[in-house]
Amino acid sequence: MTSVMPTYNRFPVSFVKGEGSYLEDEDGKRYLDGLSGIAVCALGHANPRVAKAISDQAATLLHTSNLYEIPLQTKLAERLCALSGMDNVFFCNSGAESNEAALKLARKLGNQRKIDTPVVITMEGSFHGRTMATLTATGNSKVQTGFAPLLSGFVQVPYNDIESINSLAESNESVVAILVEPILGEGGVRIPDDNYLPHLRQVCDRRGWLLMLDEVQTGNGRTGKYFAFQHSSIVPDVVTTAKGLANGVPIGACLARGDAAEILVAGTHATTFGGNPLACAAALATIEQLTDGVIDHAAEIGVAMVQGLRKALRGCNLVKDIRGKGMMVAVELHEPCVDVVGRALDCGVLLNVTADSVIRLLPPLNLSTPDAEKLVKTVADLVLERT
Ligand SMILES: *Cc1c(COP(=O)(O)O)cnc(C)c1O
Repeated sequence: MTSVMPTYNRFPVSFVKGEGSYLEDEDGKRYLDGLSGIAVCALGHANPRVAKAISDQAATLLHTSNLYEIPLQTKLAERLCALSGMDNVFFCNSGAESNEAALKLARKLGNQRKIDTPVVITMEGSFHGRTMATLTATGNSKVQTGFAPLLSGFVQVPYNDIESINSLAESNESVVAILVEPILGEGGVRIPDDNYLPHLRQVCDRRGWLLMLDEVQTGNGRTGKYFAFQHSSIVPDVVTTAKGLANGVPIGACLARGDAAEILVAGTHATTFGGNPLACAAALATIEQLTDGVIDHAAEIGVAMVQGLRKALRGCNLVKDIRGKGMMVAVELHEPCVDVVGRALDCGVLLNVTADSVIRLLPPLNLSTPDAEKLVKTVADLVLERT
């Protein structure tokens, strides 16, 4: 037994340093990082400009609390609003917390409307975090088992299913919001039909519901646009994000627009660390680089990776589907394949399997073409050796 609570199944490897898309372990073995710490280190490891921003800020001022003005927080909020078309931002420290803020915002709206039990619609197969509210919102019983009682005020419907939303719109007077991932991340890189978000937008407009997008994983350039909803023509009322926002420094954000931006007022929500100068400096240095060509690069390389995988795995009957959006790339097999992760590790490549049978790549967005080709070849070889 170790002194760390055993909540994780860990691979027996520890990394001592990183540079760009590569990590190095204690024995000096190098690994190509096809996972970026689960969509976090989008600029790769030890990014010089992020490192400098962090170290300069640490030597100047780490934290003052939200009792006082924080100019870097204001600057970051303005930057995110300009990038997204949203009006204001609440800063916190993780993805789950950003969704907590969104869920509190929705409940507050319900309370204002004098609805006894305001209901938020979420999706089967979704993932929204591990706090009580976000695990209740999550559409995966593995995340919920053992934590009863869950919260009231949530209804789940199948993902990418417009009919079930329509029938709730007819029958449920207590709904205040839909919380949905533009692409299911942990749920297996499921990309919905092009008309899905526009339809949700329409229902929300008709019914006065909030459309709240969980872009914790899809945000910050991951899919080839700053936010994934920007592939469509719609604008949500609320967007949450976290993972890639500061390239590894913990930070989360809940963005809101229009009436939704006026719901969480002074005294209704708070966090000690949220949006402190260090995290904001790191986020600003990250965004500066992401928006300076890196996101466009990710869009291109992502397409090339999907094409490369389709070519290398053409005719392989183990493969159910190969899909991707930007640098969120997946090979879905007809069988469980969690063992692929360990085999890739032996080959010096980090990747991940989610939803049991989906090999998922979330590489740094500034991945080079040769490294993209290496990832494609490794994944293809590992799939082909199963046949
Ligand atoms: C990772 C993730 C979360 C939870 O983020 P944490 O920082 O682990 O709390 C929430 N939603 C989505 C879509 C995620 O991918």
